[in-house]
Amino acid sequence: MIKIQGIKKSFGQLQVLKGIDLEIGKGEVVSIVGPSGAGKTTLLQIIGTLDRPDSGTVAIDGIDTSSMSTRKLAEFRNRHIGFVFQFHQLLPEFTAIENIMIPAYIAGRSTKDAKARATELLEFMGLSDRAGHKPNELSGGEKQRVAVARALVNNPAVILADEPSGSLDSKNKQELHQLFFNLRDKFGQTFVIVTHDEQLAAITDRTIKMRDGMVISISDSDKSEPAAGPDRDSMQEQNSD
Ligand code: ADP
Repeated sequence: MIKIQGIKKSFGQLQVLKGIDLEIGKGEVVSIVGPSGAGKTTLLQIIGTLDRPDSGTVAIDGIDTSSMSTRKLAEFRNRHIGFVFQFHQLLPEFTAIENIMIPAYIAGRSTKDAKARATELLEFMGLSDRAGHKPNELSGGEKQRVAVARALVNNPAVILADEPSGSLDSKNKQELHQLFFNLRDKFGQTFVIVTHDEQLAAITDRTIKMRDGMVISISDSDKSEPAAGPDRDSMQEQNSD
């Protein structure tokens, strides 16, 4: 689903990515970990086509994004990639359901279609009764779940998340992590998650460790059932053994 070859990126004199090669399969939930400044966010932004590499290629679902025009990239991104950030970045003047519908509008979908999809997602997230609430009327965990629903509204193949649970307390954190796996199991999305959260990294399918602009290791989680493991709590226990 994601194929990255030879990605290099510098900001001024600082080489932040020193040649990254990675392949991530459809439906994988992968975490990227490593110390601050390792280049994780830069890599995620490049995968998400929010930034361009100095050299190397990124292909999403077989489509090479490296040579696309800026306008084409924006369209591609809105349809194929969903983003979840540490802070929800919902628009305060719109309700939960309206926030979720915005990327669908941008993609040119009808109000009816956008609303049906947003309603389905809210229901899946257990937030149906919050549809008409504005962000300031939602809890932190609810806001973040609305942000995840917004990322999913166009049914993108790939969801990229940068410290998605970084601003949440431990209960909401666990719920959000569980949600990622539930979504993958239901909709088949590929998740790439930059995180400092060791508990989350431990339950993802693979953990990519970065340091100093390079991938220094890729470890498979030792669970035996790749996609169909609904019981993440017991998995977490296995992994912490
Ligand atoms: P991480 O996510 O692993 O903490 P980042 O990818 O955010 O690392 O940053 C890697 C390095 O690149 C840091 O030293 C950071 O200061 C620098 N950096 C990131 N973005 C920019 C930018 N737009 N301009 C200049 N330096 C940047």
